[in-house]
Amino acid sequence: MKVLISEAQLSERIHALGAELTAHYAAVDEPLVLVGVLRGSFVFMADLARAMDCPLEVDFMSASSYGDGTVSSGDVKLKTDLQKPIEGRHVLVVEDIVDTGHTLAKLRSILEARQPASLRFVSLLDKPSRRENGEAADWIGFTIEDHFVVGYGLDEAGLNRNVPYVGVKTND
Ligand code: 5GP
Repeated sequence: MKVLISEAQLSERIHALGAELTAHYAAVDEPLVLVGVLRGSFVFMADLARAMDCPLEVDFMSASSYGDGTVSSGDVKLKTDLQKPIEGRHVLVVEDIVDTGHTLAKLRSILEARQPASLRFVSLLDKPSRRENGEAADWIGFTIEDHFVVGYGLDEAGLNRNVPYVGVKTND
């Protein structure tokens, strides 16, 4: 596996993002709801939440469009829903990667319908060259080329989520 983004680069960027998000939400006088999109965001979410210095709750949801393959079908399904209502709450959705943008579009429409006070998205990674719609996260950790990446929460057929850096599979 080739290292694309090292542990040190991840840590530095996530601390900067945490500070930016803390400043952004400083004006909100009630706890924020961080919504992790399982399973790929679990490592990023754990680090980002601890880099944020503001009152927050966590909740999780999951969506799936890949089946067993690695190419998004565009037919995104909600698999696991939030535990609590978000009406009137400030919601920040934490994603691992925005690829085609179909997952983000689906989550946005599901969550917007519940009338949160605000709804924003932060994604560790962004692959803009793969986008099939006009979606974009509000905050992005790293913009990357069109590689299939693994590690730091992202899997390859269920494995390698525990690799501590973001890597690209090589043939050697
Ligand atoms: P989208 O709906 O934007 O095409 O895809 C979003 C989901 O596809 C991500 O949350 C992630 O689970 C998966 N995905 C997209 N690109 C990659 C990648 O390069 N590596 C891995 N492991 N998952 C990816």
